[in-house]
Amino acid sequence: MLYIVESPHLGRALKEEIESRGIPAWYVELWGNYIVATPPGTKVDGLKTPVKAVVELKTDYQLVSRQWKRDPTPVTIGDREIREGKIFIIAGPCSVETEEQILATARVVKEAGADALRGGAFKPRTSPYTFQGLGERGLILLAKARDATGLPITTELMDPEDLPLVAKYADAIQVGARNMQNFTLLKKLGRAGKPILLKRGFGNTIEEWLLAAEYVALHGNGGIVLVERGIRTFDKTLRFTLDVGAIAYAKQHTHLPVIGDPSHPAGDRRYVIPLALAILAAGADGLIVEVHPDPDKAWSDAKQQLTFQQFEELVAKAKALGKALGRD
Ligand code: PEP
Ligand code: MN
Repeated sequence: MLYIVESPHLGRALKEEIESRGIPAWYVELWGNYIVATPPGTKVDGLKTPVKAVVELKTDYQLVSRQWKRDPTPVTIGDREIREGKIFIIAGPCSVETEEQILATARVVKEAGADALRGGAFKPRTSPYTFQGLGERGLILLAKARDATGLPITTELMDPEDLPLVAKYADAIQVGARNMQNFTLLKKLGRAGKPILLKRGFGNTIEEWLLAAEYVALHGNGGIVLVERGIRTFDKTLRFTLDVGAIAYAKQHTHLPVIGDPSHPAGDRRYVIPLALAILAAGADGLIVEVHPDPDKAWSDAKQQLTFQQFEELVAKAKALGKALGRD
């Protein structure tokens, strides 16, 4: 249940009143609302604290549901906004490798029309013997690229202990597919004060993904961008199966921005542009795509990163499609 009240004072009073009846309650200020949330199906009658509206939802995820908040939620990343009706493009290498690599990429993607720069400094690699990321040095290089281009930067956080470090540099914090249900991490990100890019786990249902978003919101952070990045299915031809249906579903059932990652499901740069266009056609508000100055020599995900020329081609096609779809 969601109880909407008029002020923070009433929110805290209501939380206490509900808890005194043995029902857990959370007070959050999100998207301009003062909200007390209780578990679904726990309606409390005869409350003394004045309540503006009571919302009873048919889903287990409540705060992020579009059933009560019909207007789409914009999310601010640096000085840019990701919002419905627009196409927001985050581009950059899988991993930050060298100063030259990240600066060259930042300049080219900015010039081509990207809104933000991505780059991994803490990498979730399948094999422990492969490149694990530059750590703080990578964050420093990302910040240099931001200074040089003005592009906001996004990067992955794996260890909850690294949150202060990553938050010091990043404009948005990525939760990788492998950490989507790291609930300790999600709760901490509720208090991060930075927007979150929440990737769907490749073995997770849509509902589990939206409940992961609910964790972040329930702990106080409403700046959440949902990212579809492909799931595991019986078919191993491509690296993952891009679930375009999940994008359409998340757009209709939540008020959060939804973007897609065409790089990881493709696993091969030849398929990235078609998947990117499918993501936008399915209703996504943007893309996060891997781009590298010399992809074949990349230290991670070499096969799937776009060349600069391919990225420029992608932006031109995305613009044409955006126009046809009535987006900016
Ligand atoms: C990445 O963005 O480089 C990455 C590791 O993504 P995912 O968590 O979706 O695999
Ligand atoms: Mn990658």
